[in-house]
Amino acid sequence: MGQSKKDDLAYKVLKDIKASPDLGLLRCVQCGMCASSCPAARHSEYDPRVVIKRVLDDDKTLLEDKYIWNCFYCYNCHSVCPVGNSVCEVNQILRQMAIDKDTGKKEIESFMSFADSFLDTGLGVIPKEYHKQLFKDYGPHWDRLQQQLEDVRKTLNLESMFLLPEAEKEVDKTLEAIGFKNRVKKIKDVRDKK
Ligand code: SF4
Ligand code: SF4
Repeated sequence: MGQSKKDDLAYKVLKDIKASPDLGLLRCVQCGMCASSCPAARHSEYDPRVVIKRVLDDDKTLLEDKYIWNCFYCYNCHSVCPVGNSVCEVNQILRQMAIDKDTGKKEIESFMSFADSFLDTGLGVIPKEYHKQLFKDYGPHWDRLQQQLEDVRKTLNLESMFLLPEAEKEVDKTLEAIGFKNRVKKIKDVRDKK
């Protein structure tokens, strides 16, 4: 790839505030070492080398499809890249670009109940809709612990896990100030348009 132009995807990635100053995106030699160490590539059609190729080819459709949502940020690709590139970091930037569009907002709507727990209690507790799966994974012991959590905490002389009202108010103000509430609203608006 020659000199990046301002509307090129690669240029935008490199200029993003989240990009490391020495990110080796333009130095990618398509060696495939990232692909060979990527657990997501092992279990799906996803290939981190292809992500970088598409960015360097200025393929903006990357922001519209599900490809970039297969990565789970394990950073293996980051550790093995011989030229200091990081597909993991590039993916984080691409996802943020996609989230600025409706397509990306749809990809993260399943996290809204997690956001709701922050808004309701100021804590990132596990949303109830995941309990069924956790019960499946961990069995009845996990369920029993959830039912008896308050008693267990009392027995261990632990205070309530929930925030004091003043702290809850502070968290609420912070969530407003950092734009969290506004972002959650925008994502829910897209979800509710369906
Ligand atoms: S390991 Fe680095 S240089 Fe090799 S294909 Fe992946 S990003 Fe490119
Ligand atoms: S961070 Fe993403 S792209 Fe990199 S190895 Fe892990 S799953 Fe693959």
